[in-house]
Amino acid sequence: AVLSNQIAAGEVIERPASVVKELVENAIDAGSHEIDIIVDEAGLKLIEVIDDGSGIEGDQLELAFHRHATSKIDDRKDLFKVRSLGFRGEALPSIASIADVVMVTSTGGEGQAIHIAGGKVLSQTPAEARRGTDIAVKDLFYNVPARLKYMKSLNTELSKIVDIVNRLALGHPQIQISLTHNNRELMRTAGRGDLLQVIGSIYGMNKAGKMLPINNVDADFKISGYVSLPELTRASRNYMTILLNGRYIKNYQLTKAIIEGYGSKLMVGRYPVAVVNLEMDPLLVDVNVHPTKQEVRISKESELSEIVTATIRAKLSEQNL
Ligand code: ADP
Ligand code: MG
Repeated sequence: AVLSNQIAAGEVIERPASVVKELVENAIDAGSHEIDIIVDEAGLKLIEVIDDGSGIEGDQLELAFHRHATSKIDDRKDLFKVRSLGFRGEALPSIASIADVVMVTSTGGEGQAIHIAGGKVLSQTPAEARRGTDIAVKDLFYNVPARLKYMKSLNTELSKIVDIVNRLALGHPQIQISLTHNNRELMRTAGRGDLLQVIGSIYGMNKAGKMLPINNVDADFKISGYVSLPELTRASRNYMTILLNGRYIKNYQLTKAIIEGYGSKLMVGRYPVAVVNLEMDPLLVDVNVHPTKQEVRISKESELSEIVTATIRAKLSEQNL
């Protein structure tokens, strides 16, 4: 089991940022209002995620670290209508097979602490805890030296962590999210449900009129979010975020659709800041294409892309831009 978990880890956990993504997604799925992320040495030394969500019952705790032991879907059919960010039941066993993990969790009453390293349970004991979960992942890849060698510089690994935390925060403005690296707070959102506030705390773009709200409803899709004025561009595509039913996705066609909405208003090599929320029937989306769930298959992708372009184009022309 340890070996198969390590193999799965190779697919789900590429780098420290993958651990951050999986742990924060679990905290979101647990219904948290506040999530604090603490990272040391770009996550290679420590990644700790503290939430105030549901917690895990003591008798379920070890099970949560077993492969495919997800509490989020009961049935194969559910796979086609997943609403939670997780559903494969692979993250915790994968992470625990390649790091030293301590999780302290409580559903409200007495808490439990479990210590797992290299896939082996070292202890499980009662522990003092408030409702929620605190998971600390230390010494990532300590037993996978080949993987450690693939790590880029600490700066690169940290920037990937910042990037994924930003996207998760943009997708969940109602949750207060903070990120601290080597004792320095890098970001904190307000958790007031105000997307513009989150865009402000991440990109410093919350001044009135810099970001334009977009909204459109169609029989199959609902589009909302913010796009920047055409003159407020960046030299990277990285400032465009697409969220599909609350999940951050990477999608070439939809990214192109955002850019096309600006047409000739964008200078060559410049890209907007944009957060585009797409809501659609989960039956129209297959999220089970890749273990990291960032690539999805969307039926009616071309129609959707056209609507995204048209929505942005209409907004910009309404502003006489
Ligand atoms: P998945 O998210 O795909 O279900 P994971 O391996 O990420 O699989 O987590 C396994 C299970 O552990 C989850 O289904 C959930 O029941 C529980 N769990 C993990 N993290 C948390 C958390 N922060 N709060 C509450 N439950 C959690
Ligand atoms: Mg998960």
